[in-house]
Amino acid sequence: MEKTGIYVHIPFCVRKCAYCDFASFANREEDMPRYVEALCREIRTRAEKTGKIPVDTVFFGGGTPSLLPPALFEKIAETLRECFCLDADAEFTVESNPGTLTEELARTMKKCGVNRLSMGMQCAQRHLLKSLGRIHGMEDVVSAAAIAREAGIERLNLDLMLGLPGQTKEDMAETLEQALQLHPDHISCYALIVEDGTPLKERLEKGEITLPGDELDREMYEMCRETLEKHGFHQYEISNFALDECECRHNVNCWRYHPYLGFGSAAHSFYGGERRANPSDMDAYLAGEAPETERISEEDAMFEYVMLGLRLTRGISLRAFEERFHSSFDSVYGERLQEAFKDGRLVREGDHIRLSVHGMDVMNSVLVALL
Ligand code: SF4
Repeated sequence: MEKTGIYVHIPFCVRKCAYCDFASFANREEDMPRYVEALCREIRTRAEKTGKIPVDTVFFGGGTPSLLPPALFEKIAETLRECFCLDADAEFTVESNPGTLTEELARTMKKCGVNRLSMGMQCAQRHLLKSLGRIHGMEDVVSAAAIAREAGIERLNLDLMLGLPGQTKEDMAETLEQALQLHPDHISCYALIVEDGTPLKERLEKGEITLPGDELDREMYEMCRETLEKHGFHQYEISNFALDECECRHNVNCWRYHPYLGFGSAAHSFYGGERRANPSDMDAYLAGEAPETERISEEDAMFEYVMLGLRLTRGISLRAFEERFHSSFDSVYGERLQEAFKDGRLVREGDHIRLSVHGMDVMNSVLVALL
């Protein structure tokens, strides 16, 4: 039986980064106790319906979960353990913003079963971090990694960004080198997305800053891929690289269409054939506004299953598709995907179909064919 993952959203940040349109809020620390109260209530209410189901991954994201005072962190973790049956070897990840992780919180996290820290390093250059509005410098990344290791949190992911205003290939090379010196077992490389309504977009529109452009972005992405592969990391998803056995199980399970429960403002759930989205506004969440829910039709479920599975470099298993939907993949999608197989965007290998390297670059064209 597929086990369930749990996502917990912590929407607090020290200050808003220039590119961020996530559901996160600065200067709201005084609301933390009230928020954690509401979060624990939501966890209990949901568990009354689901029962004490088995859970194999927990992921605290945000926002900045490492801003939580240790006592509040512990309260959430204890509530989860009371309400659900966490595997003894559950993967338990907490996102952290460098410069916010204290020794006390790291020790509390370890005590609560956290075994993986995911840190938003982004890049190694102070001037680039500053232009992103990040609060940290590289020295904070180094000290947070040391604090986590000292506390006994074994696994480390570093998030890196490419395509930043003013970023050069030399900057990217230096970022990769400094990241690797911290011995992470997982690295994510994300391209900057310029979102409407952010200060970054405004500065771009005013011509105050410029982006590296598609060609340079692609070269930096290739550099990430080659450098990381040289250091023993394998790419298992468009943006994710891991040492052997160190893939992020929580995210892999989401891409494999396993169920997950999300708690907190802006958290999404996929459980029992239903999607549920909590209000993204923290005040609406605190006021008890109901989540939006949607039943997923069989047709949508098939599309989502393939769309998510194709993000993984190993792709999707045709047998697993058939077992789940009681229809063969070819009878549903064979005709629609003929072109993509013919021009090499999709590859069939034994029981699996996957995107080729070129197919990953033009994934949207494959998804359009699925519709
Ligand atoms: S730390 Fe993350 S969530 Fe918070 S403002 Fe910056 S990018 Fe957004």
